[in-house]
Amino acid sequence: FTSHTPVPAGHDVFSPQMMDRYFSFYWPRLGLDREQFLALGHHDGSGDGFNMTALSMRLSGYRNGVSVRHGEITRAMWHDLWPGVEAPLAPITSITNGVHMPTWISAPLQQLLNRYLPEGWWENLQDPDVWSNVQQIPDEELWAVKSQNRQDLLEYLREYTRNRWSTGELDTKQVVAGGPFLERRPLTIGFARRFATYKRATLIFNDADRLARILTNPERPVQLIFAGKAHPADDGGKRLIQEIFWRSLDPRFQGHIAFAEDYDMLLAERLYAGVDVWLNNPRAPLEASGTSGMKAAANGALNVSILDGWWIEGWHANEETGWGIHPSNLPDGAGDQTDAESLYRALETEVVPLFYERDEHDLPRQWIAHSKEAIRTLGPMFSSQRMVIDYITELYAPACEGGLRWAESTLGAAKR
Ligand SMILES: *Cc1c(COP(=O)(O)O)cnc(C)c1O
Repeated sequence: FTSHTPVPAGHDVFSPQMMDRYFSFYWPRLGLDREQFLALGHHDGSGDGFNMTALSMRLSGYRNGVSVRHGEITRAMWHDLWPGVEAPLAPITSITNGVHMPTWISAPLQQLLNRYLPEGWWENLQDPDVWSNVQQIPDEELWAVKSQNRQDLLEYLREYTRNRWSTGELDTKQVVAGGPFLERRPLTIGFARRFATYKRATLIFNDADRLARILTNPERPVQLIFAGKAHPADDGGKRLIQEIFWRSLDPRFQGHIAFAEDYDMLLAERLYAGVDVWLNNPRAPLEASGTSGMKAAANGALNVSILDGWWIEGWHANEETGWGIHPSNLPDGAGDQTDAESLYRALETEVVPLFYERDEHDLPRQWIAHSKEAIRTLGPMFSSQRMVIDYITELYAPACEGGLRWAESTLGAAKR
């Protein structure tokens, strides 16, 4: 059983009335009475509700979270299912998520990798050696792909907005929010994901004047592209989208902010390929893993992210691959303020200057070096091949062997 989030809305709990209605026929068939059956779904945090995660944890042979950090958090949340067992010893491990690289690495970058990585490299994406030749790619070639992808992204957004404008689907405000003023050279930051409130999509607006100074510096302009949807029942998440929409219209930002509508895999693919920086600023420790940053990194974007979920592992494996922002761990309002400060400081003093540090050919040599590190180190670590191999060797194969042992001698062990 894999737990995917510490957020309460991600763990279904059903009332005893509901359980009676749908399961009272069922427990006699298991040889259980009502009390024994309901006890399988008991968890202290859920009152007399039937907690599906508690049920799954109790009935599974192996359990895991989806990053090392999320493993710790999951043990802390559920160790009381094993009375007397302290959190660190709870039988819950972790397998960190990964992404399907052949789907998410842009076609132009795949063509470049085909020329420099060993033949058949995509058969062994989990192997770091396969990726080591990323360092042999000439700076100008990688930069050409990155710049083209950035330009393609901006053209795509413009054409998408133009088409909908011309068919009368949009009003002028929506056109402005669609990003018509974005340009092809500036440092481009992407933020796209579900608008769950813990992901704090509007954190970067904490000090709007300071953000405006970062975005509209004429020597070193920066632009921000947002995308994402809220769950239909999540009004808090919808309010965040509203805020970003009206922020994008604020003249202080001079059109350097866009909200791209209809976030889906197609738009996501273009965003990961085209942006220079991938931003993530969740309220730690609520980002169980996060995967969009993995996709962006494999496309040579540098992550600027709160240290939570997968990024703790990625950044500590190689700090050249982006910027790790230590979360404040203060309560809500104060925590947001402090985390926003850390984010501004990273952008002002490190991220933006590095992007605009150019040689005589207008190449940001250091930036490109970091970009190669991101592809080379994070590509194998966060490929779905690595993930599947981990699941097989650590969980599925042992479970299989265990099952076979139990089944020996006409299920004798299981019956005992
Ligand atoms: C990767 C992806 C996500 C998940 O992103 P997270 O960082 O894990 O929140 C959501 N939607 C789309 C379209 C994606 O491609």
